[in-house]
Amino acid sequence: MTPTYLLDMAFPALAEFMARLGQPAYRARQLWRWLYVGLADDFEAMTDLPADLRRRLSQEATIHALHLLEEKVAPDGLTRKGLFSLPDGERLEAVLMLYRERATVCLSTQVGCAIGCPFCATGLGGFRRNLSSGEMVEQVLHFSRLLRDAGRDWTGVTQVTNVVFMGMGEPLANYEATLEAVRRLHDPTGFNLGARRMTISTAGIVPGILRLAEEDLPVNLAISLHAASDDLRDTLVPLNRRYPLDELFRALQAYTERTRRRVSFEYVLIAKVNDGPVHAQLLARRLRGFLGHVNLIPLNPVPGLAWQAPPRPVVEAFKGILEKAHIPVSVRLERGVEIAAACGQLRAQKKD
Ligand code: SAH
Ligand code: SF4
Repeated sequence: MTPTYLLDMAFPALAEFMARLGQPAYRARQLWRWLYVGLADDFEAMTDLPADLRRRLSQEATIHALHLLEEKVAPDGLTRKGLFSLPDGERLEAVLMLYRERATVCLSTQVGCAIGCPFCATGLGGFRRNLSSGEMVEQVLHFSRLLRDAGRDWTGVTQVTNVVFMGMGEPLANYEATLEAVRRLHDPTGFNLGARRMTISTAGIVPGILRLAEEDLPVNLAISLHAASDDLRDTLVPLNRRYPLDELFRALQAYTERTRRRVSFEYVLIAKVNDGPVHAQLLARRLRGFLGHVNLIPLNPVPGLAWQAPPRPVVEAFKGILEKAHIPVSVRLERGVEIAAACGQLRAQKKD
């Protein structure tokens, strides 16, 4: 019998599971707290549960679907990337980025991705499967335990403060599980991470954006734009053929009106592809009057692809054009280039 994966359960399901084992509700609450507040690594650590219950749990349940295969740490120690295997042999990546007062986990929502952006290592590998909510949450718990045990020696931050759904996969193509993971991490009786500290990044799945607008959860929304004209975006983000820019921006307008929240735009700069002054002007025109911040991300080169990041002055010129048009913009330096930390790259390297 395969053990029940407890991280896939919201509290009511966990309480039901414990009731089936003949346990009262307060035991379920204890277990819940061990998982999400105590960050227990195994049942043995749950010292206020009776020994026979711990034994029973370890026979019938598990709190691990992820098995760490490899960890890469950037030379400055501030970016750590984990490559994990899953029970069915699939692999995923998650990254921890440390800042002075922040520790951000970048998590995967799918193994692979069906959208197939040609500059993305994940997209190039095709789609394998969706991750479950527990498999997403466990990525965060893994780094939370690391931070609890060692964060003081790193930057002094001992807990995960932010979560971005920007690893492998398209979160809104795995909508239910992604939202379940957001809720689980947000739950004030458990991990208790503020919704505003979570960011969902999407290539632009319009129905998902409209659905997200109706949720009562103030998560941040980031849109991977990469081009402001349909002909170019059709090639960089193939999903654009299904949801072209006008339709995407109508959905974003509805989203901001409904939620009163601003969205942010990711724009990966690729030398001689989308980094010229005309591209910047088109982008400025597209965003005029729209509440939104632009993150410019110089391409993290993918082995085997000829594309490169533009030289620094080109990035600055692009930024300058947006600034002149009063569009809030920043350049996000790719973290962990040395350890292939961009989306899907480590998994692609380790294909055997
Ligand atoms: N599928 C979602 C979320 C995962 S990708 C999305 O596309 O938004 C997260 C971000 O990483 C996206 O903005 C994506 O365009 C960017 N990205 C992918 N490959 C990259 C690369 N080689 N260099 C820099 N950014 C990359
Ligand atoms: Fe998928 Fe995002 Fe990569 Fe595009 S950039 S292939 S949407 S993971």
